[in-house]
Amino acid sequence: MDRRIIVIGGGAAGLMAAGRAAQDGASVLLLEKMARPGRKLSITGNGRGNLTNTAPLPDFLRHFRAGSGFLRAAFGQFFSADLLALLDSIGVRAVVEEDGRVFPARGDAGDVADRLAGWARASGVTIQAGTRVTALRVEAGAIRGVEAVREGEDAARFYPAAAVILATGGASYPGTGSSGDGFRLAAAAGHTIVPPRPALVPLVTAGEVAPQLQGLSLRDARPALWIAGRKAAESGGDVLFTHYGLSGPAILRLSRDAVAALDARQPVEVRIDLFPALDDSALDARLLALLADHPRQQVHNLLGELLPERLIPVLLGLADIPPETAGGQLPAANRRRLRGLLKGLPFGVTGQRGFKEAIVTAGGVDTREIDPRTLGSRRVAGLYLAGEVLDIDADTGGFNLQAAFSTGWVAGRAAARAVREESG
Ligand SMILES: Cc1cc2nc3c(=O)[nH]c(=O)nc-3n(C[C@H](O)[C@H](O)[C@H](O)COP(=O)(O)OP(=O)(O)OC[C@H]3O[C@@H](n4cnc5c(N)ncnc54)[C@H](O)[C@@H]3O)c2cc1C
Repeated sequence: MDRRIIVIGGGAAGLMAAGRAAQDGASVLLLEKMARPGRKLSITGNGRGNLTNTAPLPDFLRHFRAGSGFLRAAFGQFFSADLLALLDSIGVRAVVEEDGRVFPARGDAGDVADRLAGWARASGVTIQAGTRVTALRVEAGAIRGVEAVREGEDAARFYPAAAVILATGGASYPGTGSSGDGFRLAAAAGHTIVPPRPALVPLVTAGEVAPQLQGLSLRDARPALWIAGRKAAESGGDVLFTHYGLSGPAILRLSRDAVAALDARQPVEVRIDLFPALDDSALDARLLALLADHPRQQVHNLLGELLPERLIPVLLGLADIPPETAGGQLPAANRRRLRGLLKGLPFGVTGQRGFKEAIVTAGGVDTREIDPRTLGSRRVAGLYLAGEVLDIDADTGGFNLQAAFSTGWVAGRAAARAVREESG
């Protein structure tokens, strides 16, 4: 019988799983459907690769929207410091930036992907790219191998294996190779799939305000998500206006809840606080002082002291204030309306940009069917699952990649041990 381990998918989780299993003495074949492994890893963090985060475990886990309890055991075996030590050993020095975000010092996620693939090969892994796995072969509740089609061929071939690690990623950014195959493969093998949804995804808004401001980025704004007329969540950081609506880290962080509400057909709104450091009365006092100090200057010019130029005509239009109004002539009602907009610029959310632009996929293989200590399937003996194919997802900040690396490492080690024990 074949003692080999097959890893499906050469992303962060798959490369780590394959390399780890090979280091533990297993014979490992990694099948990757794209022309080369690590496509998504290469574009993470705007090409700079936010690889992990230095937050201590309890804080780290708080950034997970699904899977935090499940991941505790994997993080207990291989966490951020272990990842950084491994990366250092293959020539990737890391630097820590704002909020504990860790990046490669060279600022090149593609280099990290290449070095990880190089490490896996040097550890003994055979990487066969251009090969798409189309089915898992399961007999009598145990994995026997996979069926896969090579680029340029029509027929699937059977690749026997003693263990299989499914690391096909989620369904987001399908151009990188992760197009949801893993959900179908796992479901066909008897796993429950928590319905996949785009998470960390830009939002589509109604009206002309966002398109008018297209390209403008607000630093340190505070957008709030309102669902069915109630404030559901708040977030801080940068907001980017686009031709379709809103993006930027502060919006992405709210998007998971926004998508769930949109799916439930609830009314969704984002209100952006442009002055989070000032409460209503402090902002009003600031506006009053500005107007009183320059009673003859046009409001449009006065607001230049407070706001980016491009926002001013848009806000004045929304507040029904003619731009040439003199500071001393601004009626109190219009000032209050302006203040309201500055503290909560409203955008009706009509949709989201879908898997094509989602940074991660929420949902996936139900983690209750997976042993958290080994990442082994409780449904199919010899099947292991790692990375985003599982129902785990987190905020931006390096948490998602660490989850992929940690689950990959644990699955690789456990699969190698199981195969060794069986043959021993
Ligand atoms: C634009 C963008 C930026 C991001 N930036 C960050 C960041 O800075 N920090 C962070 O922590 N996270 C980031 N993420 C999220 C992070 O990239 C993912 O969570 C992580 O890559 C998941 O790793 P994975 O190995 O599970 O899946 P993937 O990296 O998606 O790898 C899955 C692999 O499986 C292959 N595959 C799929 N189906 C098959 C099949 N049938 N047969 C063979 N192979 C198959 C795919 O081609 C792919 O190579 C970002 C995501 C995106 C889209």
